[in-house]
Amino acid sequence: MPANHSETAPRPAQPPLAPKAPRRAARLVRWAVLAVVLAATTALGILHQKAGVGKPVGVDALCPFGGLETLWSLVSTGTLLRRVALSSVLLLGAAVATALVFRRTFCGRICPLGFLQELAGRIGRGVFGRRLEVPAALDRPARLLKYVVLGVSLLAAWQTAELAIRPYDPWVAYQHLTSPEVLTEFGVGLAVLGVSLVGSFFYDRFFCKYACPMGAFLALVSRFGLVKVRRNASTCIDCKACDRACPANVSVSTADVVTSPECIDCGECVAACPVAGTLAQGTKTRALTPVAASVLSVALFASLVGGATAAGVFGWTMPTLKQEMQRRGSGDGGEAPAAGTLDTSLIRGSTTISEIVDATGIPAEEFTRVYGVPASEQDRPLKELKDTYGCYPGDVRAFVELYLTDPAAAATYVPGSATEGGH
Ligand code: SF4
Ligand code: SF4
Repeated sequence: MPANHSETAPRPAQPPLAPKAPRRAARLVRWAVLAVVLAATTALGILHQKAGVGKPVGVDALCPFGGLETLWSLVSTGTLLRRVALSSVLLLGAAVATALVFRRTFCGRICPLGFLQELAGRIGRGVFGRRLEVPAALDRPARLLKYVVLGVSLLAAWQTAELAIRPYDPWVAYQHLTSPEVLTEFGVGLAVLGVSLVGSFFYDRFFCKYACPMGAFLALVSRFGLVKVRRNASTCIDCKACDRACPANVSVSTADVVTSPECIDCGECVAACPVAGTLAQGTKTRALTPVAASVLSVALFASLVGGATAAGVFGWTMPTLKQEMQRRGSGDGGEAPAAGTLDTSLIRGSTTISEIVDATGIPAEEFTRVYGVPASEQDRPLKELKDTYGCYPGDVRAFVELYLTDPAAAATYVPGSATEGGH
């Protein structure tokens, strides 16, 4: 129970204050890591959209939720869903392994979408001068929505063998902000992003609380996490600074151990607690300092991803069409594939004509003849050329398939028989 401060009670001894410097440092580490992750993922997203051969992989290959969506396909057929790379599965593994120790620290200390929302929340708090609340009767049932989103998106992925959530995903929309597709293919995701940021302006981490399927999944895993926020009730002065600091609106001041699945293990409550030895993240037997909790949790995740990168299994750059064909066994190690052996579904909006030429042996001049794309433009992704030259990925797939099976018929191919957009 908190101390009683009534006027008739004997004046309690002044509680030892927690030094401010380590608490500030822990906050600084968290915000610095989040800012670096946001800046790096934003840069990778822009480069993926704009750069040619050798560019970074896209958002689908760098999202742990894609790894979860593809698990059924991986287990049942041994293949990944289209657009998903092994790196997504590895990121999922790193997030789960980290959650088994530091619970939802991926949400609180690494996720760039969470950080964007937290920035909006900080601005909102600055404008209103305090944190706004949503009535518990509305807030509590609404938080279950994210589990529904998790179930529906996994079911849809299993049923359709596609990344079903992709068009509605605010992070995918964010990563396409520099692409014209953001308004066509990702219009709904962009709207969800807008609602999430505006919502977070009024109520911290709006999307995390109500709709994030990855957060819902990690909330389930975090039940087994070892390191939790623990409160020493005998020294707590019931100032509620922890409650006010919590972006997830967890009632820290009434818990001995924070077990709420809503806790994103950001450590903000610990950093806010003014009384030494009262609030800490740790195991039953060992409390971590605020800085150690901040550094160790991120270091665990980073070391797993770094280890996978060093082992050569985490791909940061897009394989060329030829490399992808060889990986799937459809090429023969450098020669043009035999007629009809190319899996043309590998041709996407991010593919360049130069890659197709390199992979299939179709002369580059054929693409100039059919689509009018000059040699100087053939290193650019199809999605950047399609509106000017009509080389829509679906149309190019049709042309390439025809060329590889019946070159004579391809000589009279007229563009426009297939005009789907695509990625
Ligand atoms: S309870 Fe503490 S660690 Fe958990 S979300 Fe709230 S502030 Fe962060
Ligand atoms: S910040 Fe929370 S845990 Fe720390 S003294 Fe105040 S109420 Fe107690």
